[in-house]
Amino acid sequence: MVKYVGTPASGGLTLAKIKIVNRRIAGFKRVVLAPHREKALFDAAVILAKDEIKTLMENTTGEHSEILNFQVMMLDDNGLKNMIYQKIEEKLGAAHSVEVVMEEYCARIKSINDGYLSLRTADIRDALTRVTDILDGKNRERFKLTEPCVVVADEILPSDLAVIDRQYAMGFITAGGSYHDHANIIARTMGIPSVCGVDSEILNPLNDTRQVALDGYTGEIYIVPNEATVAMFRHRMKLEQRDSVLLAKIRDAKLTMANGEEIQIFANCNDPKDITLAINNGAQGIGLVRSEILFMSTVYDLSLASQIRFYSECIRAAKGKEITIRTFDIGADKPLERLQLEKEPNPALGMRGVRLMYTQKEIFETQIEALLVAADRCGEINVMLPMVTVESDVTGYFTMVEQVKERLLNEGTIARDRIRWGIMIETPAAALISEQLAKYVNFFSIGTNDLTQYVMAADRINTNAARYFDPQHPAVVKMVEMVAQSAAKYGIKVSVCGESAADFECAKLYIEKGVRCLSMAQNAMLPIKQHLMEEFEIN
Ligand code: PEP
Ligand code: MG
Repeated sequence: MVKYVGTPASGGLTLAKIKIVNRRIAGFKRVVLAPHREKALFDAAVILAKDEIKTLMENTTGEHSEILNFQVMMLDDNGLKNMIYQKIEEKLGAAHSVEVVMEEYCARIKSINDGYLSLRTADIRDALTRVTDILDGKNRERFKLTEPCVVVADEILPSDLAVIDRQYAMGFITAGGSYHDHANIIARTMGIPSVCGVDSEILNPLNDTRQVALDGYTGEIYIVPNEATVAMFRHRMKLEQRDSVLLAKIRDAKLTMANGEEIQIFANCNDPKDITLAINNGAQGIGLVRSEILFMSTVYDLSLASQIRFYSECIRAAKGKEITIRTFDIGADKPLERLQLEKEPNPALGMRGVRLMYTQKEIFETQIEALLVAADRCGEINVMLPMVTVESDVTGYFTMVEQVKERLLNEGTIARDRIRWGIMIETPAAALISEQLAKYVNFFSIGTNDLTQYVMAADRINTNAARYFDPQHPAVVKMVEMVAQSAAKYGIKVSVCGESAADFECAKLYIEKGVRCLSMAQNAMLPIKQHLMEEFEIN
């Protein structure tokens, strides 16, 4: 028995045979022709790649199909094509040019350090690797499975998942990849255990067809497991099956406490497809849509029309359930080259979130217009402001809202205002003056990621300071309690939308302090719901 440990990327247990799929095995030599011929080869490969992806789309639905659609659009992108052409002019050859541009493009996106964008780089890689595979004459159907197995690969791309027969995919192990890869997101939605970031030694062809025990919760992998390990896995798999049946049963259950008060479980989402998934998984509402995603999206852009489309699709995807969109939260850990913001020595304490409305007025006004129009056409929404510290930022923003609204009403662009306004409470200042702030808004949403960062003086992205970043610290919990009390006093809603809402111990503390709505990553909803049912003796 040989043990490996990787990063758990999709929960679940499995015992099956290994199938090794190593895309990086080369064994061929590339010949570079004249640039005009290489360009023609590249163009032909792109046409073929698009055809292949469209064929894959015929057998996929929902999010998966949208990812593939995005890949087709990516291959149609003229900017990308020109970058590749330029490399071909430099005599790199078509396949190598695609690889170089792919690396440059993805590195640039990755440097923005945003989870959502990392997902997009996986899609870009997937589409462009298909092109290089075609140029290199490689087999693109290595993921066609004919019997139950755990796929062990250098990486798994979303289009690979489109050819995989779910009934045979018992698990994924990858040397590359990360928790946030689209492939792993899909693995999670498909309920296939997955472990990534495993030592590439595991790709040794000798491991092919060997038995493996895979624990997608802990990241543990046992090749040729001994009898005791197999018995332990069988036992846990039996228990797990019983648990999943129980969890599905509580999907639509209401969390009503003994005193009659209800706890709501909402989802945090990035885009309309996320919202659809969350609603299907039992979200009672959408507690946070991070609109700054629009700055990074290749599907939507910042134009008024595109923003109206984005917000409208989000509202429709919520199917009449409460939905809260956050205005652009740019700056700090979400720097955006496009805005050419002034470099700041300490960006987390600088001009981010609502504070940028003074220097980026036009962008904020366009967003307000798009939100008002989308709500008027598609239904009521909540909209909230991030990084609030002073009353004047809130009143300043709402003055801007009034001006835009008046113009739209006068022009007849909108018939009414269907936005309920709120703010995020994610700074100690906002928590401490929450009573004063309550009079301006209809709801509070506590962002415990930033609140913890600022209360504990612990940078949320600095792993060295991780032990100080404690959302259960009495100081943070006290702030949550203060905010819940201010909200109760002024009769407005309060929710928590930071990551800690998905941590059972934190969720319990926040509820004890008066919070009645928790918004979290959608795969955390049911387990948290079950914990809360047990804790508060809800049937
Ligand atoms: C937060 O700060 O808790 C939050 C939800 O917002 P973000 O993580 O996007 O800053
Ligand atoms: Mg925040």
